[in-house]
Amino acid sequence: MHELSITKSMLDLVLDQAQKNGAEKVQGITLVIGEMSGVVDDCVRFYFDFLSKGTIAEGAHISVKIMPAQARCRECGKQFKLNGLDWLCPSCGTTQINIVEGKELYLESIEVP
Ligand SMILES: [Zn+2]
Repeated sequence: MHELSITKSMLDLVLDQAQKNGAEKVQGITLVIGEMSGVVDDCVRFYFDFLSKGTIAEGAHISVKIMPAQARCRECGKQFKLNGLDWLCPSCGTTQINIVEGKELYLESIEVP
């Protein structure tokens, strides 16, 4: 459960950005969370609601975009979508793959009035 510290830094970033833009209220935020990041979006929402109380981000709507996991085969270079625990290259059958997408975790945008 590392969502608490992640959400805390996310909120700090939101407040920082809002302040730089002279906003007095944050209406919503959009987060990008990779399937492989190990971060549970419901936990982030829960902690965000909790941590943002009393700040200008209180009550902000949280949109989450989940990025599907993508891998690239180290043998043949094929890029494919990872399906659960099936980590075989669909083209040549090797397990020599690199995760190229799906570990993302970032703040994509902030909505201010
Ligand atoms: Zn391959």
